[in-house]
Amino acid sequence: MAHVKLHIPGPVEVSEKTFQAFRSPMVGHRGQGFKDLYAKIQPQLQQLLYTRQLVYLSTSSAWGVMEGAVRNLVQKKVLNCMCGAFSDKWLDVSKKCGKSAEALQVEWGSPIRAEAIDRKLATGEFDALTLIHNETSTGTMSPLSEIAALKKKYPEVMFIVDAVSSLTALPVKFDELGIDVLLAGTQKAFALPPGLTVFTASPAALAKAATAKDRGYYFDFVEFQKNAEQSMTPSTPSISHIYALSSKLDDFFAEGLENRFARHAKTNQLTRDWAAKHGFNLFPEKGYESVTLTCVSNGARPGGRTVDVAKLQKLVKDQGFLIDGGYGKIKGTTFRLSNMGDETEATMNHLYAALDRAMAQL
Ligand SMILES: *Cc1c(COP(=O)(O)O)cnc(C)c1O
Repeated sequence: MAHVKLHIPGPVEVSEKTFQAFRSPMVGHRGQGFKDLYAKIQPQLQQLLYTRQLVYLSTSSAWGVMEGAVRNLVQKKVLNCMCGAFSDKWLDVSKKCGKSAEALQVEWGSPIRAEAIDRKLATGEFDALTLIHNETSTGTMSPLSEIAALKKKYPEVMFIVDAVSSLTALPVKFDELGIDVLLAGTQKAFALPPGLTVFTASPAALAKAATAKDRGYYFDFVEFQKNAEQSMTPSTPSISHIYALSSKLDDFFAEGLENRFARHAKTNQLTRDWAAKHGFNLFPEKGYESVTLTCVSNGARPGGRTVDVAKLQKLVKDQGFLIDGGYGKIKGTTFRLSNMGDETEATMNHLYAALDRAMAQL
């Protein structure tokens, strides 16, 4: 069967070069071969996350580390900042971990604002917060620098940040932001196959984790740090993913991070232009649109064009491209187009051409 190219917001298309690296011969995870591999990518990861902390490799999707962060760092009460499907779910996850948790809920499509967090933290009830930088379900990006600036006012609060669908597409400077945990699953903006998450933690987060009695085994941050100091992981990692990550990091630095960021800004603008050309509005509040995917309003917002999304998807799929038909409660009243990963102006133009042909047939 012919391959349908992924333009959904994760997993995204994986290059042949990445798959080649993925299928490298196996090495023992306690041997020098693995240590050399991890030691080679460690400075690249640190450069990518703008940090001097060690960057850890978790063989899990992002949710493993998202749950792990709660188990390692919440002792009093966690503030879950919620503005879409993934961030909303973090509240359930916190509760399922037995933590005292409270929602800071805003409407889907709105960002989380620093002032709202400030009001909650001022109560003194919280010792941690969770925030999703780029809420993938709504295509909305929250103002991370403004939010991170609150850390100075609330140094005891652990700032746990998910950058799953933004990291590598724009700068997220861990040390400068002063946040405590930054994590990203690699099947989105990294363009790797699903199954690996990279993350880092501040010295304060590691110190706090060390005092948590019920932090579990598989996602024990203290163990990740201890092992990373020896260029190892706590348990047997997906070594194939780490070979693929190494190849991908070489790609990032060959392109240059600044060029990579500019490429995402450009291809994202082209997608917004495509939507505007066809009379659609965007779903996110103006000024807070994601740069890695475009969440197009299809009736979710007043005014603007509406189409039969299922039919649009099918007409595009028949031409070899998979687009997303909206997530959760905004399925059908929105649809999403991804420009994450390796996409260029040229490859995005193929998608727009297919979309144009589909629109003409609706
Ligand atoms: C996809 C996604 C997740 C969940 O990732 P899994 O790979 O399913 O664990 C979490 N946060 C954001 C922002 C995402 O886009």
